[in-house]
Amino acid sequence: MSGFYKPDRNPRWNYGGENWRLSRSKIGLFQECPRCFYIDNKLGTARPSGFPFNLNSAVDTLLKKEFDIHRAAESTHPLMKAYGLDAIPFSHAHMDVWRENFKGIEYRHPATGFKVSGAIDDIWVNPAGELIIVDYKSTSKDEKIDALDQDWHIGYKHQMEVYQWLFRQSGFSVSDTGYFVYANAGTDKEAFDAKLEFELTLIPYKGDTSWVEPTLLSIKECLEGDELPDAASGCDYCIYRETVGKKLMARYAPKAAKRAPKTEEKPDTATLGL
Ligand code: SF4
Repeated sequence: MSGFYKPDRNPRWNYGGENWRLSRSKIGLFQECPRCFYIDNKLGTARPSGFPFNLNSAVDTLLKKEFDIHRAAESTHPLMKAYGLDAIPFSHAHMDVWRENFKGIEYRHPATGFKVSGAIDDIWVNPAGELIIVDYKSTSKDEKIDALDQDWHIGYKHQMEVYQWLFRQSGFSVSDTGYFVYANAGTDKEAFDAKLEFELTLIPYKGDTSWVEPTLLSIKECLEGDELPDAASGCDYCIYRETVGKKLMARYAPKAAKRAPKTEEKPDTATLGL
């Protein structure tokens, strides 16, 4: 075990425990697969996460520092100017908390009693005083990134919409249009020379937060129920787990059955539908 993964979380962090919060990423997990969400939040076993993306985090940190210079100066960043956006980075006493992972902005949703939370990358503000939610992304692609038009981008859009919803619920005036600051590392140089060069693009996205409230109610219903919800189809994790489970059962179950005295038959993992 890596030492980081805890397959049995302390119940205080599960649904019903005093530390449980519904983060933006948990809402995303519910949308991806209600079963995995239920096993994670109610039963206390999360899917192992991958290794952290340190290069992406480094880009986020440097972008934050760069926009903070303009926040302090109340000036428009050159990227905003290049795209004709009349805005400056927003200053607020809670900005650092809102941007901190595992903290972020938090709102208690009256209809469910959930503490809903999310940590933003940045907020800008336009002359009308509307907040503009901003998310930094980094990648390396051959083509210029100027649209979020792939099916899998829906997760990014939902992420933005949860942040817009959270800030509106907390009493702020929030623009429907948020922005993704995309840093794309080029690979068309002669050599590495110990540096990566990035092209920055600014991609507007008009959010629609109407799905958030009904989704929170569905999440409540899911968590309050005793039924294991349906699993997503075509998930690599489940295909791996099921395949390994079947292979191990085929290999070891007959030997174990020969050794063991006859007892009540136990259902296998496939029968449980896991
Ligand atoms: S299909 Fe299985 S592993 Fe995949 S997300 Fe759902 S419960 Fe989790």
